Amino acid sequence: MRFDILTIFPEMFPGVLDTSMLRIAQEKGAVSFDLHDFRDFANNKHQKVDDRPFGGGPGMVLKPDPIFACLESFLPADKAPPPIILLSPQGEAYNQRIANELSQLDHIVLIAGRYEGFDQRIVDGLPVREISIGDYVITGGELAALVLVDSIVRLLPGVLGDADSATYESFNNGLLDHPHYTRPVEFRGMTVPEVLRSGDHARIAAWRKQKAAELTRARRPDLLDPKDRPST
Ligand code: SAM
Repeated sequence: MRFDILTIFPEMFPGVLDTSMLRIAQEKGAVSFDLHDFRDFANNKHQKVDDRPFGGGPGMVLKPDPIFACLESFLPADKAPPPIILLSPQGEAYNQRIANELSQLDHIVLIAGRYEGFDQRIVDGLPVREISIGDYVITGGELAALVLVDSIVRLLPGVLGDADSATYESFNNGLLDHPHYTRPVEFRGMTVPEVLRSGDHARIAAWRKQKAAELTRARRPDLLDPKDRPST
């Protein structure tokens, strides 16, 4: 899978992309990253990519021309473009379902915003899908792009050491994950539940399912089928 990432802060990426699972995924050839600094495509003396908003108001707005020119520099004009994702608080809310969907693609372009965000003609004039990582505002789209990259790449075949890890995680079956324990059996008066040490796989599976359901009902009833939600 290939990611092209448009940003004016490419230096924010190597630390994350070259560590742990993302580094290994690159070494295995499962994924590659191309970072594009769209400031290089600003057609003015000071390489400005932003300007004041029409109509007044605080902050600066990302100009359309550097982003269009940057995309046109690496996307062939005679081919349908790959999915282009604009990181934006106004986008659809990101979740595991979208991560699963995007992990089926072989090429994705991510565009990280800054300042007050994008000139609307970037949204209207490009075939973009706007995605938000949550109902809060961060300073730039770089961290949001990395959230998408991490959550997608770990789903690619052969990337996680144990393929079952992703299958049994929170959200994949509509439930939060169950509690986990490791050694020691007793720690500061807290003991690993007996069932997990019993070796009885059917009982262990039932206990985990029950704990996952309890946790989901208590914390995220919105994830449950309406008929299974606790009455309020
Ligand atoms: N004026 C915008 C608003 O109120 O919605 C906020 C702009 S924010 C300071 C600058 C950039 O950070 C955005 O263009 C976007 O790329 C990124 N960003 C901020 N919060 C985000 C979120 N929740 N999800 C995705 N990207 C986000």
